[in-house]
Amino acid sequence: MSARILDGKSIAAEIRQEVRLEVEAMAAQTGAVPCLATILVGNDPASATYVQNKARACKEVGITSVRIELPADLSEMSLLHEINRLNSDPVVHAILVQLPLPPHINERRILEAILPEKDVDGFHPSNLGGLLVGSPLFVASTPLGILELLDRSNIVIEGKHAVIVGWSVVVGKPTAFLLLQHHATVTICHIKTRDLAFHTRQADILVVAAGKPGLVTGSMVKEGAVVIDVGVNRLSDGRVVGDVEFPEVAEKASLITPVPGGVGPMTIAMLLKNTVDACRRKWGERCGR
Ligand code: NAD
Repeated sequence: MSARILDGKSIAAEIRQEVRLEVEAMAAQTGAVPCLATILVGNDPASATYVQNKARACKEVGITSVRIELPADLSEMSLLHEINRLNSDPVVHAILVQLPLPPHINERRILEAILPEKDVDGFHPSNLGGLLVGSPLFVASTPLGILELLDRSNIVIEGKHAVIVGWSVVVGKPTAFLLLQHHATVTICHIKTRDLAFHTRQADILVVAAGKPGLVTGSMVKEGAVVIDVGVNRLSDGRVVGDVEFPEVAEKASLITPVPGGVGPMTIAMLLKNTVDACRRKWGERCGR
């Protein structure tokens, strides 16, 4: 079998176009313009590029973005003040703190300071807990993007065995809960899992989010599986690859995401969608809807 490509780039472009129309319609009806504030602490080039890409994506769909760049030696208290300021700014609907933060800052404490209704990354405990009971205000963009990719590619989740490699709060855990909500049978694997290949070979849907290039090889994948490669790894020769050995896994899978061009663009598209939702919810509250 040779896999069909799950083209995240073109599906994300479709979503961005929908978001653009929604932003226009909302502005016409209510005068409200969604606004995303991004906070970048320090000068890590990869983080700066991510923030820049998000700002560009916002601009393309008519979302206002405010970029706040702060020095790496900023104190935790100063960062908390900045977040409180954005929390109480009525013009700002959504707040995103680019991770990772410098080691002297407690990431959890910072993420917990963002108001849940502005937490478009979905990392606040009340949004993570909401996911557990099926009613979060926001779900993290990458897991949401994975589900949207499956949905828009007409992949049936119900009754399937989904195996997820990686259990981070950013990707693995929320993806597992979303797939459970869609009635998949879910196995979560991680660094301490014994015989990873035994588990991955059971997967009808395999999601790999480990940050380890070449972790999943052809022999670890069942014939006809759907393979979602979340990994983004920059090799010493400058190439960006996922966690899956693409050519040999594509021989076994029925559908596979490329890296780049798979999950990455979906993540940004879902962030835009979350930002519009935050704005719409705020406007609805004001009008008592
Ligand atoms: P993380 O480091 O927080 O978590 C990695 C997970 O993988 C851990 O749970 C760990 O137990 C597991 N793991 C590591 N090595 C393993 C192994 N050998 N066998 C089994 N499990 C193993 O990383 P993360 O934030 O979840 O990100 C994972 C990857 O996804 C990274 O490459 C990251 O860059 C990428 N990512 C991509 C997007 C996107 O939009 N495309 C978004 C977020 C993360």
